[in-house]
Amino acid sequence: MTAKPAVLACGDARFSVHRLLGLGEGDAHVRNAGSAVTEDAIRSLTVSRHLLGTREIVLVHHRDCGMRTFTDPAQDVRQCIGRLRASPFLPHTDVVRGYVLDERTGTLDEVP
Ligand SMILES: [Zn+2]
Repeated sequence: MTAKPAVLACGDARFSVHRLLGLGEGDAHVRNAGSAVTEDAIRSLTVSRHLLGTREIVLVHHRDCGMRTFTDPAQDVRQCIGRLRASPFLPHTDVVRGYVLDERTGTLDEVP
């Protein structure tokens, strides 16, 4: 089985993570307010890692997120990536990538 990435995205109903990333039924994804790297999110990603063999995490933030009115979404993505990489519960996660969705244009930009 080729494992797809586990996706952590905001629960905002204005965009579909499935459509955005071409996910299918059963693909691993976690949604919460602001795509925050909370203990719950890390627990879900850990389960995904062990049960589905996901070794890559994709983080999706979006520009008009109500959870981060005052911060730069790219900066927040970098901080969240740091938290995921530092988690002792995700030691074998090979790749963590972060993106910011611009809902107005539909573009998804990777955060370097
Ligand atoms: Zn949001």
